[in-house]
Amino acid sequence: MSRIVYVNGSYLPEEEATVSIFDRAFLMADGVYEVTSVLGGKLIDFAGHMARLERSLNALGMNKPEAFDELLDIHRELVTRNDIDEGMIYLQVSRGAAGDRDFVFPDPEVVKPTLVLFTQSKPGLADNPTAKTGIKVISIDDIRWGRRDIKTVQLLYPSMGKMMAKDAGADDAWLVEDGKVTEGTSNNAYIVKDGRIITRELSTDILHGITRAAVLRFAREAQMTVEERSFTVDEAQQADEAFVTSASTFVMPVVALDGAPIGDGTVGPVATRLREIYIEESIKAGV
Ligand code: PMP
Repeated sequence: MSRIVYVNGSYLPEEEATVSIFDRAFLMADGVYEVTSVLGGKLIDFAGHMARLERSLNALGMNKPEAFDELLDIHRELVTRNDIDEGMIYLQVSRGAAGDRDFVFPDPEVVKPTLVLFTQSKPGLADNPTAKTGIKVISIDDIRWGRRDIKTVQLLYPSMGKMMAKDAGADDAWLVEDGKVTEGTSNNAYIVKDGRIITRELSTDILHGITRAAVLRFAREAQMTVEERSFTVDEAQQADEAFVTSASTFVMPVVALDGAPIGDGTVGPVATRLREIYIEESIKAGV
């Protein structure tokens, strides 16, 4: 069955939805995005994702789309029209289509941002069996640009990183800069040592994960110790546990790094507990 998607004010079957070939997201990766998960038909961490969207737009001097204040209604409408119980909603805003290719930003009074949303149905997202076995990651150089805190659609290197992982028989890659892990290709990275949860501090070096913020809050509320600092691949390989967080995987255990088992090479209790708390609390707070 074809999806109903949203493009610039219209709900359309996906085959009928179009964007200009001059759209700056297409030509220049001049666009930002958000992915909000849906559990039990409810939006998870919606306010956080919209706050980060606004931050990304501001950081790039991009106007808000006209429908910015209606985004909750649009998300809900898409969930209803596509009958999404578990899955994700992808939202993208670009600087629009100026009718030609030019590096210079178009006049925002003349060229309006392009707003696109679509759903991805993923039944079984919360009960993902991979959370019981964990994933294997490899480490690769972090050669991305310097503003990783802005959630742009410039995802070529993260895609290449996932391909490098696949070619190496692993599931994902952790990015390393100056000897320290920054984050995963599409998630934030954590280790657990002697009961302490360690994850890189916020800066322009990493995306400020919405799931990260919620998980660290829940961890602190559960009296767990959190250390926000960077760590090396070596330290991660010596850790008791490791995991990643993102809106689409929640808390996902990592059981090996560059072929070395982490802890005993199985899913650990801290990641398991945090996943349970995150999913339970997020469903309760879903909108
Ligand atoms: N880091 C990167 C590079 C990402 O692409 C993502 C997910 N888009 C994350 C972290 C996790 O962010 P969130 O928890 O908001 O999904």
